[in-house]
Amino acid sequence: MEKIVYLSIGANQGHKLKTISEALNLIAKEIGSIQAISNFYESAPLGFESKNQFLNICISVSTNLSPTNLLLKTQIIEQQLGRKKKGPNYEDRTIDLDIIYYENWIINLPELTVPHPLLSNRKFVLLPLNDIAPLFLHPILNLNTKELIRQSNDKSSLKRIDYKYIGNENKI
Ligand code: ATP
Ligand code: CA
Ligand code: CA
Repeated sequence: MEKIVYLSIGANQGHKLKTISEALNLIAKEIGSIQAISNFYESAPLGFESKNQFLNICISVSTNLSPTNLLLKTQIIEQQLGRKKKGPNYEDRTIDLDIIYYENWIINLPELTVPHPLLSNRKFVLLPLNDIAPLFLHPILNLNTKELIRQSNDKSSLKRIDYKYIGNENKI
Protein backbone atom coordinates (compact mmCIF):
# COMPACT_ATOMS: atom_id res chain seq x y z
CA MET A 1 0.00 0.00 0.00
CA GLU A 2 1.27 3.44 -0.94
CA LYS A 3 1.66 5.83 1.95
CA ILE A 4 1.46 9.62 1.89
CA VAL A 5 4.43 11.30 3.50
CA TYR A 6 5.35 14.95 3.98
CA LEU A 7 8.96 16.01 3.63
CA SER A 8 10.60 19.32 4.45
CA ILE A 9 13.50 20.29 2.20
CA GLY A 10 15.99 23.02 3.06
CA ALA A 11 19.22 24.29 1.53
CA ASN A 12 21.48 27.18 2.51
CA GLN A 13 24.74 26.44 0.71
CA GLY A 14 25.74 26.36 -2.95
CA HIS A 15 23.20 26.73 -5.73
CA LYS A 16 20.17 26.16 -3.53
CA LEU A 17 17.47 26.05 -6.18
CA LYS A 18 19.49 23.69 -8.36
CA THR A 19 20.15 21.37 -5.43
CA ILE A 20 16.48 21.35 -4.43
CA SER A 21 15.38 20.57 -7.96
CA GLU A 22 17.92 17.73 -8.12
CA ALA A 23 16.55 16.48 -4.82
CA LEU A 24 13.04 16.49 -6.29
CA ASN A 25 14.25 14.41 -9.25
CA LEU A 26 15.96 11.91 -6.96
CA ILE A 27 12.93 11.71 -4.67
CA ALA A 28 10.65 11.01 -7.64
CA LYS A 29 13.05 8.27 -8.77
CA GLU A 30 13.95 6.69 -5.43
CA ILE A 31 11.05 7.40 -3.09
CA GLY A 32 7.82 7.76 -5.01
CA SER A 33 5.61 10.04 -6.98
CA ILE A 34 5.48 13.64 -5.81
CA GLN A 35 1.90 14.69 -5.12
CA ALA A 36 2.35 18.36 -4.30
CA ILE A 37 5.09 20.99 -3.99
CA SER A 38 4.71 24.11 -1.85
CA ASN A 39 5.87 27.59 -2.68
CA PHE A 40 9.53 28.34 -2.06
CA TYR A 41 10.42 30.39 1.03
CA GLU A 42 13.53 32.14 2.14
CA SER A 43 14.33 32.01 5.86
CA ALA A 44 17.13 33.08 8.15
CA PRO A 45 19.05 30.26 9.86
CA LEU A 46 17.42 29.30 13.16
CA GLY A 47 19.63 27.96 15.94
CA PHE A 48 22.95 28.90 14.39
CA GLU A 49 24.77 31.89 12.93
CA SER A 50 25.29 32.06 9.20
CA LYS A 51 25.08 34.70 6.52
CA ASN A 52 23.52 32.12 4.19
CA GLN A 53 19.73 32.26 4.03
CA PHE A 54 17.80 29.03 3.64
CA LEU A 55 15.54 28.13 0.78
CA ASN A 56 12.71 25.88 2.06
CA ILE A 57 9.86 23.89 0.59
CA CYS A 58 7.57 21.07 1.65
CA ILE A 59 6.36 18.26 -0.56
CA SER A 60 4.02 15.32 -0.30
CA VAL A 61 5.08 12.00 -1.77
CA SER A 62 3.30 8.71 -2.25
CA THR A 63 5.68 5.91 -1.33
CA ASN A 64 5.94 2.17 -0.71
CA LEU A 65 8.91 2.61 1.61
CA SER A 66 8.70 1.84 5.31
CA PRO A 67 9.58 4.74 7.65
CA THR A 68 13.13 3.53 8.27
CA ASN A 69 13.75 2.81 4.60
CA LEU A 70 12.40 6.26 3.78
CA LEU A 71 14.86 7.77 6.27
CA LEU A 72 17.73 5.79 4.72
CA LYS A 73 16.78 6.91 1.19
CA THR A 74 16.58 10.55 2.23
CA GLN A 75 20.02 10.25 3.84
CA ILE A 76 21.50 8.69 0.68
CA ILE A 77 20.01 11.51 -1.41
CA GLU A 78 21.49 14.10 1.00
CA GLN A 79 24.90 12.51 0.54
CA GLN A 80 24.53 12.35 -3.25
CA LEU A 81 23.83 16.07 -3.19
CA GLY A 82 26.96 16.86 -1.25
CA ARG A 83 25.70 17.06 2.35
CA LYS A 84 28.67 16.78 4.64
CA LYS A 85 28.21 16.53 8.35
CA LYS A 86 31.09 18.19 10.13
CA GLY A 87 30.19 18.85 13.74
CA PRO A 88 27.43 17.90 16.16
CA ASN A 89 25.74 21.32 15.87
CA TYR A 90 23.57 23.01 13.28
CA GLU A 91 25.58 24.25 10.32
CA ASP A 92 25.34 25.29 6.69
CA ARG A 93 24.17 22.45 4.47
CA THR A 94 23.69 21.88 0.76
CA ILE A 95 20.50 19.96 1.49
CA ASP A 96 18.43 18.75 4.43
CA LEU A 97 15.54 16.33 4.00
CA ASP A 98 13.36 15.82 7.06
CA ILE A 99 10.37 13.55 7.45
CA ILE A 100 7.56 15.69 8.83
CA TYR A 101 4.64 13.25 8.68
CA TYR A 102 4.33 9.60 7.64
CA GLU A 103 0.58 9.23 7.16
CA ASN A 104 -0.76 9.94 10.66
CA TRP A 105 1.72 7.56 12.27
CA ILE A 106 3.50 8.26 15.53
CA ILE A 107 7.02 6.84 15.35
CA ASN A 108 9.52 6.85 18.19
CA LEU A 109 12.65 4.99 17.16
CA PRO A 110 16.19 5.88 18.23
CA GLU A 111 16.93 7.17 14.73
CA LEU A 112 13.51 8.46 13.73
CA THR A 113 10.86 10.61 15.43
CA VAL A 114 7.66 11.33 13.49
CA PRO A 115 5.92 13.77 13.46
CA HIS A 116 9.12 15.78 13.38
CA PRO A 117 9.49 16.98 17.00
CA LEU A 118 10.37 20.59 16.15
CA LEU A 119 7.68 21.05 13.51
CA SER A 120 5.41 23.23 15.62
CA ASN A 121 8.25 25.66 16.48
CA ARG A 122 9.33 26.19 12.92
CA LYS A 123 7.70 28.64 10.55
CA PHE A 124 10.06 27.51 7.79
CA VAL A 125 8.34 24.12 7.93
CA LEU A 126 4.82 25.24 8.82
CA LEU A 127 4.37 27.89 6.11
CA PRO A 128 5.31 25.65 3.18
CA LEU A 129 3.37 22.77 4.76
CA ASN A 130 0.35 25.05 4.96
CA ASP A 131 0.47 25.52 1.16
CA ILE A 132 -0.04 21.82 0.52
CA ALA A 133 -1.70 20.47 3.68
CA PRO A 134 -3.48 23.25 5.62
CA LEU A 135 -5.98 20.88 7.23
CA PHE A 136 -3.71 17.89 7.89
CA LEU A 137 -4.07 16.96 11.57
CA HIS A 138 -0.97 16.60 13.70
CA PRO A 139 -1.58 13.15 15.24
CA ILE A 140 -0.22 14.07 18.69
CA LEU A 141 -1.18 17.72 19.10
CA ASN A 142 -4.47 17.20 17.28
CA LEU A 143 -4.13 20.56 15.53
CA ASN A 144 -4.09 21.20 11.81
CA THR A 145 -1.34 23.17 10.06
CA LYS A 146 -3.25 26.46 10.16
CA GLU A 147 -3.79 26.04 13.90
CA LEU A 148 -0.15 25.10 14.44
CA ILE A 149 0.90 28.33 12.73
CA ARG A 150 -1.46 30.35 14.90
CA GLN A 151 -0.05 28.92 18.11
CA SER A 152 3.59 28.74 17.02
CA ASN A 153 6.11 30.69 19.10
CA ASP A 154 8.38 31.17 16.08
CA LYS A 155 7.94 34.85 15.26
CA SER A 156 10.41 34.91 12.37
CA SER A 157 9.13 36.18 9.06
CA LEU A 158 9.69 34.31 5.85
CA LYS A 159 9.86 35.66 2.36
CA ARG A 160 7.86 33.84 -0.26
CA ILE A 161 9.93 33.58 -3.41
CA ASP A 162 8.08 34.41 -6.58
CA TYR A 163 8.38 31.52 -9.02
CA LYS A 164 8.75 34.00 -11.89
CA TYR A 165 12.21 35.09 -10.86
CA ILE A 166 13.43 31.97 -9.17
CA GLY A 167 15.37 31.10 -12.33
CA ASN A 168 17.68 34.04 -11.67
CA GLU A 169 20.59 32.65 -9.65
CA ASN A 170 21.51 36.06 -8.30
CA LYS A 171 18.26 36.40 -6.48
CA ILE A 172 18.59 33.26 -4.41
P1 ATP B 1 16.62 18.90 13.06
O1 ATP B 1 16.17 17.49 13.31
O2 ATP B 1 16.57 19.78 14.28
O3 ATP B 1 15.95 19.54 11.90
P2 ATP B 1 18.94 18.41 11.41
O4 ATP B 1 17.94 18.20 10.33
O5 ATP B 1 20.00 19.43 11.18
O6 ATP B 1 18.18 18.79 12.77
P3 ATP B 1 20.41 16.08 10.88
O7 ATP B 1 21.85 16.21 11.18
O8 ATP B 1 19.97 16.26 9.46
O9 ATP B 1 19.61 17.07 11.82
O10 ATP B 1 19.85 14.68 11.37
C1 ATP B 1 20.19 14.14 12.60
C2 ATP B 1 19.43 12.83 12.81
O11 ATP B 1 18.05 13.06 13.02
C3 ATP B 1 19.43 11.86 11.66
O12 ATP B 1 20.57 11.07 11.67
C4 ATP B 1 18.15 11.04 11.88
O13 ATP B 1 18.43 9.74 12.37
C5 ATP B 1 17.41 11.81 12.96
N1 ATP B 1 15.97 12.00 12.76
C6 ATP B 1 15.06 11.77 13.76
N2 ATP B 1 13.81 12.04 13.33
C7 ATP B 1 13.93 12.45 12.03
C8 ATP B 1 12.97 12.87 11.06
N3 ATP B 1 11.66 12.92 11.34
N4 ATP B 1 13.42 13.19 9.83
C9 ATP B 1 14.76 13.15 9.55
N5 ATP B 1 15.71 12.76 10.44
C10 ATP B 1 15.31 12.43 11.66
CA1 CA C 1 16.22 19.62 9.70
CA1 CA D 1 17.73 16.47 8.86
